Amino acid sequence: MAQSPFSNPAVQVAMLGGGQLGKMVLAEARRMDIGLRVLDPSADAPCRLGAQTFVQGDFRDCDTVVQFAQGASAVAIEIETVNADALEILESQGIPCFPPSHVLRIIQNKIAQKNFYAEKGLPTSAYAEYRNVKDLKEAVASGAQSLPFVWKLGQGGYDGFGVQVVREDSDLATLQDGGCIAEALVDIATEIGVVVARNRQGESAAFPPVEMEFHPTANQVEFVVCPSHLTPGALDEAMALALRVSDAFETLGLLAVELFYTQQGEWLVNEVAPRPHNSGHLTIEGCATSQFEQLLRTLCDLPFGDTQLRQPAVMANIVGAEGFSGPVIYAGMDKALRVPGTSFHIYGKAQTRPFRKMGHLTAVGPSVDIARQRAADARDALVVKA
Ligand code: ADP
Repeated sequence: MAQSPFSNPAVQVAMLGGGQLGKMVLAEARRMDIGLRVLDPSADAPCRLGAQTFVQGDFRDCDTVVQFAQGASAVAIEIETVNADALEILESQGIPCFPPSHVLRIIQNKIAQKNFYAEKGLPTSAYAEYRNVKDLKEAVASGAQSLPFVWKLGQGGYDGFGVQVVREDSDLATLQDGGCIAEALVDIATEIGVVVARNRQGESAAFPPVEMEFHPTANQVEFVVCPSHLTPGALDEAMALALRVSDAFETLGLLAVELFYTQQGEWLVNEVAPRPHNSGHLTIEGCATSQFEQLLRTLCDLPFGDTQLRQPAVMANIVGAEGFSGPVIYAGMDKALRVPGTSFHIYGKAQTRPFRKMGHLTAVGPSVDIARQRAADARDALVVKA
């Protein structure tokens, strides 16, 4: 690294997307006094305050992105729908992109992503590819595609739309049309996430694996927990696989790798995200270096920070309560803020909706059980209303 990025006007990171993930990168950039500019279409974006420059514009538009990033030292993303052609142009101008355009193109399409794992010999669930829902239905009718399976839309799916378990013929009726895959339904014992950082020298550093704990009835991730209850041997395998995935992509910056640990004790890659990820939020309180700081370090060509877990940590999302839509009010703060070991992250979204992610909280403690109890107490006390 030629010069320090700290308090250096010649160094500026260009961030595409100004949501909560960007806001948490911004907080670290402020702490270390690294310059950061942000592009987001919404004037109310969580990053509107605190960025050195906030530009309102569409990160899906090629010209807007290319122009926005001129003169930047590096480009980062906090959302995957940014324009990949723009990243390629910026790379040709010598501006490194985290992730590189070739990685983003693969990840933007679930079919391309699955094919990538197959080509690279990375373990993933068996699947078949279909051009559209009509072809899929025909394959089911002819018996070429057996039930049950997990249907995944290639492009355009978000937050649960675009993934559906198909158990019987009638489930096919609701599928959105488009290129898709039918994946074997995996007998999942545990879902694990590993955030890996990779730098320009091709070196990597993995954070400790986190475990997704599902709500017993709602079928939604309730807590993200570290350390996981799996054996150290199994967790070493998870880390090694996540590092292999990151190397196979030859990516830059963060790669959040979602893994399935099967009932048979086998590891499968589910999917990846080339940016900070919900599964890495607990690194802020749990680790010496957070995923957001690690991203900045790779962007500025600084050495990796220490990723070791300092204490058990449990993260819970703060979501809009059912039955409320409109300007947000946080109720129950008096009780929630008294829970020991607990930190609150409020994303700064003006409007709440049922189940909208409005923030998260992380509780630490001397054991996972204590940290989980604290996270549950704080989350239950806090009500996001309108
Ligand atoms: P999204 O992009 O919506 O997060 P994912 O591919 O991560 O979609 O799938 C969401 C969830 O669906 C996973 O966390 C897992 O619980 C379940 N799931 C996905 N693929 C499979 C599969 N092949 N077998 C069983 N469950 C799956």
